[in-house]
Amino acid sequence: MEVFIEPIGRLINEFTKLPGVGQKTAQRYAYRVISMTEGEARAFADAIVGVKQRVHFCKICGNFTEGEVCAICRERDPSAICVVKEPKDVIALEKLHEFKGVYHVLHGVIDPMNGVGPNDIRIRELLARVQEGKVTEVIMATNPDVEGEATAMYIAKLLKPLGVKVTRLSRGIPIGSELEYADEVTLSRALIERKEI
Ligand SMILES: [Zn+2]
Repeated sequence: MEVFIEPIGRLINEFTKLPGVGQKTAQRYAYRVISMTEGEARAFADAIVGVKQRVHFCKICGNFTEGEVCAICRERDPSAICVVKEPKDVIALEKLHEFKGVYHVLHGVIDPMNGVGPNDIRIRELLARVQEGKVTEVIMATNPDVEGEATAMYIAKLLKPLGVKVTRLSRGIPIGSELEYADEVTLSRALIERKEI
């Protein structure tokens, strides 16, 4: 016999799909939902369905947006492109209020051990943007781990012949860590003191 009646067991099972949520936490979340009013529960469920229906990738930079092109691509200086691994890295950099250019989200890094090659991430799209000719600097802001460094070097090699300045965040972010966990002062300094590669 199942310990939980079916609807509760089902909700617990859904919560365990979230990162860092184990069985106990999932149970706690499920009980909290049971104690919500029907309106609260509906708003919660609608928010989940809403992100799936309304959030897309910007067709230029690959970041999350509601429309076709994100606000950053629409309004900011297109001469500098900051290249990151994931949308959450854009948030980490935007919090600094330091960078005035646009972004390019790769949606991954080159990682041969896990079967991710150059054609599996958005490198082709980046080259196409640079070839349009308005870009003067590309800042490689992938994480300072093995895959992030290798991806930055690989892309830099492809960009150099296009006559664009390629820079890399300066050291200071702990090696092997992710941008999102770097403190803002460290990340700001790494951005300001970026070096040409
Ligand atoms: Zn965009």
